[in-house]
Amino acid sequence: MVEQSARLSPVLKQATPVLAARGEGVHIYDEDGRRYLDFTAGIGVTSTGHCHPKVVEAAQKQVGTLIHGQYTTVMHRPLLRLTEELGSVLPEGLDRLFYVNSGSEAVEAALRLARQATGRQNAVVFEGSFHGRTMAAASLTTSGTKIRAGIGPLMPGVAVAPFPYAYRLGMNEEQAVEYALAELDYMFATVTSPKDTAAFFIEPVLGEGGYVPVPPAFLEGLRRRADEHGILLVADEVQTGFGRTGRFWGHEHAAVRPDVVITAKGLASGFPLSAIAAPESIMERAWPGSQGGTYGGNAVACAAALATLEVIREEGLVENAARNGERLLTGLRKAAEGHARVGDVRGLGLMAASEFTTPDGSPDTETATKAHKAATERGLLLLTCGPHGNVVRMIPPLVVDADQIDEALALWSEAL
Ligand code: PLP
Repeated sequence: MVEQSARLSPVLKQATPVLAARGEGVHIYDEDGRRYLDFTAGIGVTSTGHCHPKVVEAAQKQVGTLIHGQYTTVMHRPLLRLTEELGSVLPEGLDRLFYVNSGSEAVEAALRLARQATGRQNAVVFEGSFHGRTMAAASLTTSGTKIRAGIGPLMPGVAVAPFPYAYRLGMNEEQAVEYALAELDYMFATVTSPKDTAAFFIEPVLGEGGYVPVPPAFLEGLRRRADEHGILLVADEVQTGFGRTGRFWGHEHAAVRPDVVITAKGLASGFPLSAIAAPESIMERAWPGSQGGTYGGNAVACAAALATLEVIREEGLVENAARNGERLLTGLRKAAEGHARVGDVRGLGLMAASEFTTPDGSPDTETATKAHKAATERGLLLLTCGPHGNVVRMIPPLVVDADQIDEALALWSEAL
């Protein structure tokens, strides 16, 4: 346990703090030189590993050249080059971009864009959604009570539809999809009009809500309804973008093209940057001054993002996420075999989770918390998530190799 400063706000005091002195690849070293295997990646941010030499070099070079230039007065090459590069990895046609600094801000921006483009006010989100902590993003967030408690009133016009969470619904995937789509149709017929709905907001893998991949058939069902009613399909790829799921974008696991893609986290390997992408037909409805912000598209962050893209390509990190993600999931399933409290193991690419359940089927937060703590004590950094904090998740940097996966699995088995 690190010594806490009395001046820290309680919001910064966490149960298992490690005082990080430096990071290298998939490792964090504390001030006593103890090495931790970091299977959190700063919550999915340090995609190329801690302090990848190419990212460090690009950022250092940019710091000595131009740190900041605000786009209303000066444009700069890193932003222009990044826009070209991102345009080439985004789904065809989604090649108009602007930038802000965090996932929440990008969600806010996408909501504003959806309202600007459709002239409608409402949004539909799914149970367990997490879209951020700023007021509109929190209004779109339903996972966890901590985020929304005591801050209301939240934004009106947000309807919450069921998510096809097969394990918790006690159904197979097909049944869960059928159920969730039927509920959505019922909601449109009775509670909220699709004709007043600007956008669906969906995470390709439910993130904070418990690492539940969206079944492709569900995303395809949303696409059909979006087309039918003129609703925009917004893919919140803040956590799932940039190779995380074993494809460049999480939504690519389904035969669906979203109308708007939001990306952040892994985009710039740790520098604050987020991007909103949409086709010209949608983007042209937003006027200068209505979107963006002082730091959006910061030159150093853009330079780091360009280096990140280069590393992802050169080192085959998308393929690595698919390959080692499979290894991780297989190992987690094996580790769970001997443990009655692990009710479900699931994931996609390098997002993998174990859900803890009591013998009577209810969420087992206590055992999940203990397993998480036991892993930290053994030098393996993990995160919890899920509606009750009863899911332990792994989201290592995309540079993780097979030996490091095996080492983490051995520590996890011990912790269990
Ligand atoms: N959207 C998703 C899917 C997220 O996972 C997160 C953060 O975890 C956010 C939005 C909010 O991002 P930020 O914390 O950068 O504001």
